[in-house]
Amino acid sequence: MRIIPISLPTPFYIGPVNVYLIAVDPITIIDTGPKTKDAINALRDGLRAAGFRSSDLRRIVLTHAHEDHCGLARSLRDEAKDAEVFVHEWETGHRVGRLEYAEHRQLLVRAGVPDDEIEGMRRMYEGVRMYADSFDDHEYNPLWDNAELEFATGTLRIVHTPGHTPGSCSFVREADRTIIAGDCVLKRVTPNPVLSADPLDSSKRFPSLAEYLVSLARLRSFAPTLVHGGHGDAVHDYEELFHRYVRAISERQSQVIGLLSNQGASAWEISRVMFPQTDDVHRFLAVSEAVAHLDLAHSEGKIALELAGEREIYRPN
Ligand SMILES: [Zn+2]
Ligand SMILES: [Zn+2]
Repeated sequence: MRIIPISLPTPFYIGPVNVYLIAVDPITIIDTGPKTKDAINALRDGLRAAGFRSSDLRRIVLTHAHEDHCGLARSLRDEAKDAEVFVHEWETGHRVGRLEYAEHRQLLVRAGVPDDEIEGMRRMYEGVRMYADSFDDHEYNPLWDNAELEFATGTLRIVHTPGHTPGSCSFVREADRTIIAGDCVLKRVTPNPVLSADPLDSSKRFPSLAEYLVSLARLRSFAPTLVHGGHGDAVHDYEELFHRYVRAISERQSQVIGLLSNQGASAWEISRVMFPQTDDVHRFLAVSEAVAHLDLAHSEGKIALELAGEREIYRPN
Protein backbone atom coordinates (compact mmCIF):
# COMPACT_ATOMS: atom_id res chain seq x y z
CA MET A 1 0.00 0.00 0.00
CA ARG A 2 1.86 3.03 -1.29
CA ILE A 3 1.40 6.41 0.40
CA ILE A 4 2.47 9.15 -2.01
CA PRO A 5 2.74 12.73 -0.68
CA ILE A 6 1.82 15.49 -3.13
CA SER A 7 2.59 19.13 -2.23
CA LEU A 8 0.12 21.75 -3.47
CA PRO A 9 0.39 25.55 -3.44
CA THR A 10 -2.04 27.55 -1.28
CA PRO A 11 -2.74 31.29 -1.14
CA PHE A 12 -2.38 31.15 2.65
CA TYR A 13 0.38 32.26 4.97
CA ILE A 14 1.11 28.67 6.01
CA GLY A 15 2.43 27.89 2.50
CA PRO A 16 2.00 24.62 0.55
CA VAL A 17 -0.29 21.87 1.84
CA ASN A 18 0.47 18.15 1.70
CA VAL A 19 -2.14 15.74 0.38
CA TYR A 20 -1.62 11.99 0.30
CA LEU A 21 -2.45 9.57 -2.48
CA ILE A 22 -3.05 5.99 -1.34
CA ALA A 23 -2.15 4.25 -4.58
CA VAL A 24 -4.02 0.98 -4.15
CA ASP A 25 -7.65 0.03 -4.72
CA PRO A 26 -9.87 1.77 -3.92
CA ILE A 27 -7.66 4.69 -5.00
CA THR A 28 -7.94 7.24 -2.20
CA ILE A 29 -6.75 10.78 -1.63
CA ILE A 30 -6.37 12.17 1.88
CA ASP A 31 -7.05 15.94 1.70
CA THR A 32 -7.41 17.89 -1.52
CA GLY A 33 -5.84 21.34 -1.39
CA PRO A 34 -7.66 24.68 -1.74
CA LYS A 35 -10.00 25.50 -4.60
CA THR A 36 -7.53 27.33 -6.84
CA LYS A 37 -6.34 26.75 -10.40
CA ASP A 38 -2.76 26.35 -9.20
CA ALA A 39 -3.71 23.68 -6.68
CA ILE A 40 -5.85 21.62 -9.07
CA ASN A 41 -3.11 21.76 -11.71
CA ALA A 42 -0.46 20.70 -9.20
CA LEU A 43 -2.73 17.91 -8.00
CA ARG A 44 -3.33 16.65 -11.54
CA ASP A 45 0.43 16.72 -12.16
CA GLY A 46 1.10 14.82 -8.95
CA LEU A 47 -1.51 12.18 -9.76
CA ARG A 48 -0.15 11.83 -13.31
CA ALA A 49 3.41 11.39 -12.03
CA ALA A 50 2.12 8.52 -9.89
CA GLY A 51 0.30 6.99 -12.89
CA PHE A 52 -3.25 8.15 -12.06
CA ARG A 53 -5.90 10.65 -13.07
CA SER A 54 -8.41 12.43 -10.88
CA SER A 55 -11.13 10.24 -12.43
CA ASP A 56 -9.44 7.19 -10.85
CA LEU A 57 -10.16 8.45 -7.33
CA ARG A 58 -12.75 6.40 -5.46
CA ARG A 59 -12.45 7.94 -2.01
CA ILE A 60 -11.76 11.51 -0.87
CA VAL A 61 -10.92 11.51 2.82
CA LEU A 62 -10.50 14.77 4.76
CA THR A 63 -8.32 15.14 7.84
CA HIS A 64 -10.37 18.26 8.65
CA ALA A 65 -12.43 20.87 6.89
CA HIS A 66 -10.11 23.86 6.65
CA GLU A 67 -10.08 25.39 3.19
CA ASP A 68 -6.47 24.45 2.42
CA HIS A 69 -7.35 20.77 3.02
CA CYS A 70 -10.94 20.39 1.81
CA GLY A 71 -11.29 23.07 -0.86
CA LEU A 72 -11.23 20.83 -3.92
CA ALA A 73 -13.29 18.00 -2.42
CA ARG A 74 -16.44 18.79 -4.36
CA SER A 75 -14.69 19.39 -7.70
CA LEU A 76 -12.72 16.18 -7.33
CA ARG A 77 -15.79 14.21 -6.39
CA ASP A 78 -17.56 15.52 -9.48
CA GLU A 79 -14.60 14.68 -11.71
CA ALA A 80 -14.24 11.19 -10.27
CA LYS A 81 -17.83 10.08 -10.63
CA ASP A 82 -19.01 8.04 -7.66
CA ALA A 83 -16.07 8.96 -5.47
CA GLU A 84 -17.18 9.08 -1.86
CA VAL A 85 -16.23 11.91 0.49
CA PHE A 86 -15.39 11.16 4.12
CA VAL A 87 -15.07 13.65 6.97
CA HIS A 88 -15.68 13.49 10.72
CA GLU A 89 -19.12 14.66 11.79
CA TRP A 90 -17.65 17.18 14.23
CA GLU A 91 -16.34 19.18 11.28
CA THR A 92 -19.86 20.33 10.47
CA GLY A 93 -19.30 23.91 11.59
CA HIS A 94 -16.22 24.25 9.43
CA ARG A 95 -17.67 22.39 6.50
CA VAL A 96 -20.32 25.00 5.88
CA GLY A 97 -18.36 28.15 6.70
CA ARG A 98 -17.02 29.15 10.03
CA LEU A 99 -18.01 32.60 11.10
CA GLU A 100 -21.48 32.70 9.62
CA TYR A 101 -23.08 31.23 12.64
CA ALA A 102 -24.49 33.29 15.45
CA GLU A 103 -22.85 30.78 17.76
CA HIS A 104 -19.43 31.61 16.41
CA ARG A 105 -20.00 35.31 16.83
CA GLN A 106 -21.07 34.53 20.38
CA LEU A 107 -17.72 32.82 21.04
CA LEU A 108 -15.88 35.95 19.91
CA VAL A 109 -18.10 38.26 22.00
CA ARG A 110 -17.47 36.10 25.06
CA ALA A 111 -13.73 36.23 24.38
CA GLY A 112 -13.98 40.04 24.55
CA VAL A 113 -13.36 40.73 20.86
CA PRO A 114 -14.71 44.25 20.02
CA ASP A 115 -17.54 44.52 17.47
CA ASP A 116 -15.47 46.18 14.75
CA GLU A 117 -12.84 43.45 15.04
CA ILE A 118 -15.52 40.74 14.80
CA GLU A 119 -16.79 42.43 11.66
CA GLY A 120 -13.24 42.48 10.27
CA MET A 121 -12.84 38.77 11.02
CA ARG A 122 -16.14 37.99 9.34
CA ARG A 123 -15.09 39.84 6.18
CA MET A 124 -11.75 38.10 6.18
CA TYR A 125 -13.32 34.66 6.44
CA GLU A 126 -15.69 35.44 3.65
CA GLY A 127 -12.55 35.86 1.56
CA VAL A 128 -11.08 32.58 2.84
CA ARG A 129 -14.30 30.66 2.21
CA MET A 130 -13.97 31.24 -1.54
CA TYR A 131 -11.27 28.60 -1.45
CA ALA A 132 -13.67 25.78 -0.57
CA ASP A 133 -17.10 24.53 -1.56
CA SER A 134 -19.47 23.65 1.22
CA PHE A 135 -21.06 20.22 1.56
CA ASP A 136 -24.58 19.32 2.54
CA ASP A 137 -25.16 16.69 5.18
CA HIS A 138 -26.08 13.95 2.71
CA GLU A 139 -22.99 14.53 0.57
CA TYR A 140 -20.40 12.98 2.84
CA ASN A 141 -19.81 9.84 4.87
CA PRO A 142 -18.78 10.16 8.49
CA LEU A 143 -15.37 9.00 9.68
CA TRP A 144 -15.70 6.93 12.87
CA ASP A 145 -12.98 6.79 15.45
CA ASN A 146 -11.18 3.46 15.49
CA ALA A 147 -12.87 2.18 12.31
CA GLU A 148 -10.70 1.11 9.39
CA LEU A 149 -10.42 2.28 5.82
CA GLU A 150 -9.84 -0.95 3.93
CA PHE A 151 -7.67 -1.32 0.86
CA ALA A 152 -6.85 -4.27 -1.44
CA THR A 153 -3.60 -4.55 0.48
CA GLY A 154 -3.73 -3.24 4.02
CA THR A 155 -5.82 -0.88 6.09
CA LEU A 156 -5.64 2.56 7.62
CA ARG A 157 -7.06 2.97 11.11
CA ILE A 158 -9.09 6.13 11.63
CA VAL A 159 -8.07 7.91 14.82
CA HIS A 160 -10.12 10.90 15.91
CA THR A 161 -7.53 13.48 17.02
CA PRO A 162 -9.48 16.63 18.00
CA GLY A 163 -7.67 19.83 18.96
CA HIS A 164 -6.73 21.85 15.91
CA THR A 165 -10.42 21.45 15.01
CA PRO A 166 -13.07 19.34 16.80
CA GLY A 167 -13.32 16.77 13.99
CA SER A 168 -9.66 16.43 13.03
CA CYS A 169 -8.71 12.83 12.22
CA SER A 170 -5.45 10.97 11.70
CA PHE A 171 -4.87 7.75 9.79
CA VAL A 172 -2.57 5.04 11.07
CA ARG A 173 -0.98 2.26 9.03
CA GLU A 174 -0.30 -0.11 11.88
CA ALA A 175 1.86 -2.48 9.83
CA ASP A 176 4.77 0.00 9.92
CA ARG A 177 3.33 2.60 12.36
CA THR A 178 3.12 5.34 9.75
CA ILE A 179 0.61 8.11 10.48
CA ILE A 180 -1.04 10.73 8.28
CA ALA A 181 -1.96 13.40 10.81
CA GLY A 182 -3.17 16.49 8.92
CA ASP A 183 -2.64 19.64 10.98
CA CYS A 184 -2.47 17.70 14.26
CA VAL A 185 1.29 17.27 13.77
CA LEU A 186 3.41 19.87 11.98
CA LYS A 187 7.17 19.68 12.01
CA ARG A 188 8.01 23.37 12.36
CA VAL A 189 5.10 25.01 14.17
CA THR A 190 2.87 24.07 17.07
CA PRO A 191 -0.58 23.75 15.50
CA ASN A 192 -3.13 26.37 16.47
CA PRO A 193 -6.11 25.14 18.50
CA VAL A 194 -8.75 27.08 16.57
CA LEU A 195 -11.62 28.65 18.56
CA SER A 196 -14.67 26.45 17.95
CA ALA A 197 -18.07 25.78 19.44
CA ASP A 198 -18.47 22.41 21.14
CA PRO A 199 -20.03 20.15 18.48
CA LEU A 200 -22.18 18.48 21.13
CA ASP A 201 -23.41 21.75 22.72
CA SER A 202 -22.95 24.88 20.63
CA SER A 203 -23.54 27.13 23.66
CA LYS A 204 -20.17 25.89 24.96
CA ARG A 205 -16.64 26.33 23.77
CA PHE A 206 -14.74 23.31 22.55
CA PRO A 207 -11.91 22.56 25.03
CA SER A 208 -9.45 22.52 22.15
CA LEU A 209 -6.12 22.48 23.94
CA ALA A 210 -7.11 19.87 26.54
CA GLU A 211 -8.42 17.68 23.72
CA TYR A 212 -5.29 18.33 21.71
CA LEU A 213 -3.02 17.10 24.50
CA VAL A 214 -5.05 13.88 24.66
CA SER A 215 -4.76 13.50 20.87
CA LEU A 216 -0.98 13.93 20.96
CA ALA A 217 -0.74 11.27 23.66
CA ARG A 218 -3.01 8.97 21.72
CA LEU A 219 -0.82 9.22 18.61
CA ARG A 220 2.18 8.57 20.84
CA SER A 221 0.59 5.31 21.97
CA PHE A 222 1.08 3.97 18.42
CA ALA A 223 4.85 4.56 18.76
CA PRO A 224 4.93 6.12 15.28
CA THR A 225 8.00 5.71 13.11
CA LEU A 226 6.91 8.30 10.55
CA VAL A 227 4.27 11.04 10.74
CA HIS A 228 3.09 12.87 7.62
CA GLY A 229 1.71 16.31 8.53
CA GLY A 230 -0.53 18.68 6.65
CA HIS A 231 2.32 21.13 5.97
CA GLY A 232 6.09 20.79 5.77
CA ASP A 233 8.35 17.78 6.04
CA ALA A 234 7.44 14.44 7.59
CA VAL A 235 8.35 13.85 11.23
CA HIS A 236 10.72 10.94 11.90
CA ASP A 237 11.13 11.54 15.61
CA TYR A 238 7.63 11.87 17.03
CA GLU A 239 8.91 11.38 20.57
CA GLU A 240 11.07 14.52 20.29
CA LEU A 241 8.21 16.49 18.74
CA PHE A 242 5.77 15.32 21.41
CA HIS A 243 8.01 16.56 24.22
CA ARG A 244 8.75 19.80 22.37
CA TYR A 245 5.02 20.49 21.93
CA VAL A 246 4.19 19.69 25.55
CA ARG A 247 7.02 21.95 26.71
CA ALA A 248 5.92 24.78 24.40
CA ILE A 249 2.34 24.48 25.63
CA SER A 250 3.38 24.60 29.27
CA GLU A 251 5.71 27.58 28.67
CA ARG A 252 2.97 29.43 26.85
CA GLN A 253 0.58 28.66 29.70
CA SER A 254 2.97 30.17 32.27
CA GLN A 255 3.34 33.25 30.07
CA VAL A 256 -0.45 33.65 29.78
CA ILE A 257 -1.02 33.23 33.53
CA GLY A 258 1.77 35.77 34.18
CA LEU A 259 -0.04 38.35 32.03
CA LEU A 260 -3.16 38.30 34.22
CA SER A 261 -3.30 41.18 36.67
CA ASN A 262 -5.65 41.30 39.65
CA GLN A 263 -8.37 43.17 37.79
CA GLY A 264 -8.41 40.34 35.23
CA ALA A 265 -8.49 40.37 31.44
CA SER A 266 -10.43 38.96 28.52
CA ALA A 267 -8.83 36.50 26.11
CA TRP A 268 -8.82 39.26 23.50
CA GLU A 269 -6.83 41.61 25.76
CA ILE A 270 -4.35 38.84 26.53
CA SER A 271 -3.98 38.05 22.82
CA ARG A 272 -3.15 41.71 22.06
CA VAL A 273 -0.37 41.65 24.67
CA MET A 274 0.94 38.25 23.53
CA PHE A 275 0.89 39.13 19.84
CA PRO A 276 1.01 42.96 19.60
CA GLN A 277 2.19 42.94 15.99
CA THR A 278 -0.52 40.67 14.63
CA ASP A 279 -2.24 41.97 11.51
CA ASP A 280 -5.95 41.48 10.78
CA VAL A 281 -5.53 38.08 9.23
CA HIS A 282 -3.94 36.60 12.28
CA ARG A 283 -5.94 38.23 15.05
CA PHE A 284 -8.51 35.46 14.97
CA LEU A 285 -5.77 32.85 15.36
CA ALA A 286 -4.17 34.94 18.12
CA VAL A 287 -7.39 35.15 20.12
CA SER A 288 -7.93 31.41 19.50
CA GLU A 289 -4.54 30.70 20.99
CA ALA A 290 -5.20 32.92 24.03
CA VAL A 291 -8.61 31.31 24.69
CA ALA A 292 -7.11 27.84 24.36
CA HIS A 293 -4.39 28.47 26.91
CA LEU A 294 -6.63 30.37 29.34
CA ASP A 295 -9.28 27.64 29.18
CA LEU A 296 -6.72 24.92 29.82
CA ALA A 297 -5.30 26.85 32.79
CA HIS A 298 -8.83 27.37 34.09
CA SER A 299 -9.74 23.68 33.70
CA GLU A 300 -6.58 22.82 35.62
CA GLY A 301 -7.70 25.11 38.46
CA LYS A 302 -4.81 27.55 37.98
CA ILE A 303 -6.89 30.66 37.22
CA ALA A 304 -10.47 31.86 37.78
CA LEU A 305 -13.09 32.73 35.17
CA GLU A 306 -16.10 34.99 35.60
CA LEU A 307 -18.68 36.67 33.45
CA ALA A 308 -18.73 40.50 33.14
CA GLY A 309 -21.82 41.26 31.06
CA GLU A 310 -21.34 39.21 27.90
CA ARG A 311 -17.57 39.00 28.27
CA GLU A 312 -15.59 36.40 30.13
CA ILE A 313 -12.82 37.70 32.38
CA TYR A 314 -9.94 35.54 33.58
CA ARG A 315 -8.26 36.36 36.92
CA PRO A 316 -5.40 35.00 38.95
CA ASN A 317 -6.56 32.61 41.68
ZN1 LIG B 1 -6.10 23.31 9.55
ZN1 LIG C 1 -3.58 23.27 7.18
